[in-house]
Amino acid sequence: MCGIVGYLGNKNIKNILLDGLKDLEYRGYDSAGIALLQNSTFHTFKALGKIVNLEEKMKQCEPKSFGVGIGHTRWATHGKPTELNAHPHLGEYSYVVHNGIIENYKELKNELQEKGHKFVSQTDTEVIVHLFENYFNVSNDPFDAFTKTISRLEGAYATLLVTQSENEKVFFAKQGSPLIIAHGNDNDDMLFSSSDAPLIGLAKDVIYLEDGHYGYATATEVSLFEDGKTIKGSFSALPQSRQYAQKEGYNFFMEKEIYEQSSVLADCMIGRVQDNSIDFDEITPDIFDGINEVKICACGTSYHSGLTASYLIERHAKIRTSVEIASEFRYKEPLMTKDTLFVVVSQSGETADTLEALKMAKAKGLKTLVICNVDNSSMVRESDAAILTRAGIEKGVASTKAFSTQVTVFWMLSLYMAQVRSTMERSEIEKEIHALLEVPNAAKVEDSMREKLHRLSKRYLHGHGFFFIGRDVFFPLALEGA
Ligand code: GLU
Repeated sequence: MCGIVGYLGNKNIKNILLDGLKDLEYRGYDSAGIALLQNSTFHTFKALGKIVNLEEKMKQCEPKSFGVGIGHTRWATHGKPTELNAHPHLGEYSYVVHNGIIENYKELKNELQEKGHKFVSQTDTEVIVHLFENYFNVSNDPFDAFTKTISRLEGAYATLLVTQSENEKVFFAKQGSPLIIAHGNDNDDMLFSSSDAPLIGLAKDVIYLEDGHYGYATATEVSLFEDGKTIKGSFSALPQSRQYAQKEGYNFFMEKEIYEQSSVLADCMIGRVQDNSIDFDEITPDIFDGINEVKICACGTSYHSGLTASYLIERHAKIRTSVEIASEFRYKEPLMTKDTLFVVVSQSGETADTLEALKMAKAKGLKTLVICNVDNSSMVRESDAAILTRAGIEKGVASTKAFSTQVTVFWMLSLYMAQVRSTMERSEIEKEIHALLEVPNAAKVEDSMREKLHRLSKRYLHGHGFFFIGRDVFFPLALEGA
């Protein structure tokens, strides 16, 4: 889940939004887009891949005078990375950008389609703009329509919405994904961003919105609400180093990624862990028809998450599961039978040996599934089905959140298989779900723990060796630690 920028004011809106998106590039993304609203006319630009591609598309665009604009870098969770699925998303007369996942998007989409709304993308996001217009068509009051829209959304979102009839306002809401609002340095413009970096140099004081906050802003004023009541936002000082901001206050990217695990694990489970069952948008139960065995193939860290999966799948779904290192598997003339589900795991979806193993399995007619972090990667395109880990970019060389989200996907998958194959009692599944829901909390590093870790790491810094021990699912974890 990726980045948002927004701008309201007289300055060079195109450059501010493009530079802002570039400052968000460190988070990783697959496509990007910008919508500008000037004198009640929208101009939209979208491009796959790097921000320079978007910049190229905007070459001829020279916005003049006052403008409202929203921009987005997308890390696809629902729908392929395509230009059509890139944000901002248009209804009839409004645009929206969104980070996060709308869990109840299917119900909302059905409801809106029945009322005649036409959807063009495969994203969950598009429901926001149609829901808004659905309410606006009745009340003709944009804030009322926006408030009603937000009240219908379940899941995680940071969202900005602009609409033609209010061409000097941006509507915003935050629930579970970060969103910041900032007065520009001269107090005559307003900026929005999902992280600090794009705001540095342009603003000094910012409001870090809390979950449940929503409202609207003009170039000079923010109207902030919670539970239907006006509230006063508290401003705080913005860090002044871009590098520091990109590491979100941590000394190293790896440190940041360890602390991020709690939130990415929650993202990984959104819409998948239901009250008393597990559901995946990406697969249907028939993927297990005629399957008597699971073979997992991967390299490095992903191999270790596969090892964990072999414990979980055999235990929960009662199906024989083996794990192989892809770089060995592809050279050993392996036996492959069609009653085997072939599962490959890769953070990037491009690991050469794993991709080759996947192609071999496909050529033999096996059903294939990939667990991966990057939509539209070679493995996602090659396999019959894909489940995304939603970990976001991982810069640290030692894997942290990529590994923990892979293991979480496998935990959910083993329970999903148990449901399909009726190998566990309902009550046992519910117990596991209960434990799963505790994971984001368990992965949260409290300040006291952080201090303790600092002390411990100092003590062990000059050690000559480190032993990791573990049994059961903690054995693969020990291997990964080592
Ligand atoms: N769920 C949305 C999508 O797939 C937003 C993803 C993001 O946060 O970048 O388009």
